[in-house]
Amino acid sequence: MNDKSKSSLEKKDQIAWEKYSEEDLEKVFSLSQRYIDFMSRCKTERECVEEFKAQAEKAGYRDLNHFISQGKRLKSGDKVYAENMGKTIALFVIGKRPLEEGMKILGAHIDSPRLDLKQNPLYEDADLALLDTHYYGGIKKYQWVTLPLALHGVIVKKDGSSINIVIGEDDNDPVFGVSDLLIHLAKDQMKKTLAEGVEGENLNILVGSIPIQDKEAKDRVKQNILKLLNEKYGIVEEDFVSAEIEVVPAGRARHYGLDNSMVMCYGQDDRVCAYTSFEAMLEIENPENTCVTLLVDKEEIGSVGATGMHSRFFENTVAEIANLLGDYSELKVRRALANSKMMSSDVSAAFDPNYPEVMEKKNCAQFGRGIVFNKYTGSRGKSESNDANPEFIAELRQIMDENNVSWQTAELGKVDQGGGGTIAYILANYGMEVIDAGIALHNMHAPWEIASKADIYEAKRAYYAFLR
Ligand code: MN
Ligand code: MN
Repeated sequence: MNDKSKSSLEKKDQIAWEKYSEEDLEKVFSLSQRYIDFMSRCKTERECVEEFKAQAEKAGYRDLNHFISQGKRLKSGDKVYAENMGKTIALFVIGKRPLEEGMKILGAHIDSPRLDLKQNPLYEDADLALLDTHYYGGIKKYQWVTLPLALHGVIVKKDGSSINIVIGEDDNDPVFGVSDLLIHLAKDQMKKTLAEGVEGENLNILVGSIPIQDKEAKDRVKQNILKLLNEKYGIVEEDFVSAEIEVVPAGRARHYGLDNSMVMCYGQDDRVCAYTSFEAMLEIENPENTCVTLLVDKEEIGSVGATGMHSRFFENTVAEIANLLGDYSELKVRRALANSKMMSSDVSAAFDPNYPEVMEKKNCAQFGRGIVFNKYTGSRGKSESNDANPEFIAELRQIMDENNVSWQTAELGKVDQGGGGTIAYILANYGMEVIDAGIALHNMHAPWEIASKADIYEAKRAYYAFLR
């Protein structure tokens, strides 16, 4: 490959772009085009699950509940999916070997940092109508002002019916936004730290400025907004109480760079790993060991709740599968989990020449060098990380090299510079082999994140090679 200056004893670096034939390049760019289309449509966990379900069904996957309710047996080669509350999905292809011999698992999360509407969001101030938000996940608040934002989500009425909302994505839709102070009046603000310059409580979305006709009424602009919402969606103000509306950057994902080598879009943490895992999974037929792709919610706030990785959903689903294979016992489920191997995927930080000081160059990810393996993540002396076993890493090196997959290793930044967590340690609790892997980004958690198309392609190839 490249790196001819190195001796045969030295570790070689691989720039994936250098190995591609014309045919490979076509595959790189067609995958990134499908990814761009997916990311332009799917900006919430619910939208991702709906899309994954639809594509999986087209590829021959059936709802696990269908088998459960009909008492129908599962057999080797069957493809099923289990959905959890519309926000988490697990796909299975049943293997030839007994489940208790372990599964090959791909995992990633489909929730992303954003602004969520509060339960009582709508108010009027100075003849303007605004929506109050509470941010979700770790954001640099100053990055979310003066951007076109869209509303995505669901409103559930007392009668149980629900209304899906997407406003701000169609060219004919209005968009929304959070204001920032003009530079001319920002003397005091500019002296504040970046953390304090824009406060969380001030992330209010401007949604209207026309009052209703009735001059006697109070809050006439707010009332006009309520009237519009009622006409369009049949909702009243109290319905916001049982809604989940996410405020996200408006607009499509884009090709990035003069050479079109990268993708810019919202929510690549961690949908870039989720999408590539999903595509690899759809290509798996009749595997030896049962293959699983697990795409979960709530990672950005600690994997909590019924749809986060800490919930029993996955374990329960494995028990259901064991039962439908006619081979259920608690012990066998425990063995199936303990004997499994997992690539737990989440994004890494790619080296950024604008901020070299936070990285240690030998041990950080770079664009175009393929899927990133992180033996450990965590912070302050690897705290709260899943520290993968060298035996498992060696096995993965062998698989990747055999399949000519470009890969690299990284830590998230310099020692004691910061750190982060993923879902890896939660699955590792079952006693299975787990490694953190994923795709490197610039601008992680910013409204618009950047990834390399070569890395997206190599990640999909890595997932496929691992499942096979
Ligand atoms: Mn993540
Ligand atoms: Mn994240």
